Amino acid sequence: MKVIIHCSDSTFGNAALIDYWHRNRPKPFRMIGYHLVILNGWIDSKHYHNRFNGHVETGRPFDDNKQIDTSEWGAHTKGQNSRSIGICLIGESAQFSRRQLSALACELAELKKQFGKIEISQHSDHDPNKPFCAGLTEEQMTELRNFIS
Ligand SMILES: [Zn+2]
Repeated sequence: MKVIIHCSDSTFGNAALIDYWHRNRPKPFRMIGYHLVILNGWIDSKHYHNRFNGHVETGRPFDDNKQIDTSEWGAHTKGQNSRSIGICLIGESAQFSRRQLSALACELAELKKQFGKIEISQHSDHDPNKPFCAGLTEEQMTELRNFIS
C-alpha cells in the first residue's frame, strides 16, 4: 500500500475544519479527502493546546483489513486515490513539530502492521503542481522509512 504525506498549508486546523473545506471546494468532495490528520496543537489561529500537538484524528474512515474498498478511497492525490492512504500534517510546507513527526512515525508503523508492506512518499512525488506538499526533507523521509523497516 502506498502512503502519501500531505500538509494542510495552513497554520492551524483539524479533521473537522478540513472536512468543511473539502465539502466547500469549487468541486466539492463528499467528505474530507485525507484518511488521517495529525494536528500541530493549533485548533484555530488563536488557540494552542499542547495536548493536541501530535494528536491523530480520523479523516475519511477505512476499516482494518488489507484492502482499500471503493467506499474508502481517499481524495488527496491525482491518480493514486484507489491505492493509497493519505495522511495530512497540519501546518505549512515543512513546518511541523517534533511531536507531529513522532506521531507520523507511529501511524506508519500501524499502517505497516495492517497492510504488510507500505511505500511512503509525499504529494510532491506524484504531482508537479504540488512541489511543497508536504515539504519533508530527504533525510526526514529516510528516517521514517528506516523507522518502519
Ligand atoms: Zn498534498
